[in-house]
Amino acid sequence: MRHGENHKVQHLGWLRAAVMGANDGIISTASLMMGIAATQTSTHAVLITGVAGLVAGALSMAAGEYVSVRSQADTEAADIERETQELVEYPAAELRELTEIYIARGLTRELAQQVATQLTAHDALAAHARDELGIVEFLQARPLQAAVTSAATFAVGAFIPLVTAWLVPDKYLITAVAASSLVSLAVLGGLAANVGGASKFKGALHVCCWGAVAMALTGAVGHLFGVQL
Ligand SMILES: [Zn+2]
Repeated sequence: MRHGENHKVQHLGWLRAAVMGANDGIISTASLMMGIAATQTSTHAVLITGVAGLVAGALSMAAGEYVSVRSQADTEAADIERETQELVEYPAAELRELTEIYIARGLTRELAQQVATQLTAHDALAAHARDELGIVEFLQARPLQAAVTSAATFAVGAFIPLVTAWLVPDKYLITAVAASSLVSLAVLGGLAANVGGASKFKGALHVCCWGAVAMALTGAVGHLFGVQL
């Protein structure tokens, strides 16, 4: 059985990714719509912009996540392969290497030698992967899963300002999109902070500030260019 603390970190991994995807979806789609809405165009144009932003953002998230996780997976695979070969070719040097790692972490030479010897006998590759390369099994990269997850969470986030703009009367569009986006950002920020054991209020405040700044800036840009051009 894994230790409780590990469990929390593991849990935090995918939740953090999901919350970040949704945050991105809310902030970028709401900001995009604010920018267009500030040019005094029709609600229809604002909605089309929101949908385009959702699709473009989700695809870009998926592509970015796939490439990044894929290259991480490739690097891990190459490291493991090299380590496997080294264990076959230079077992004595590898045992010394492992011993030095445990000494550097605070064990005495005698104990480090014992630990290294026993772990090598048990599963040499796992010991080197974990303690030398920092590769832990449950963190092994799954590029396609990561791509789908971030695209989906981005889309869910993007739906919030989009549906708000679609539902409210035209004259409240900007206010309603800003309000629904900031409230959902606050909830997500608080939730993520709470699961991570950090302050809920601070988490909510941070993400809200970023969202407000992004929307205010794009709104200002839309206003500026919409009036001048
Ligand atoms: Zn090694």
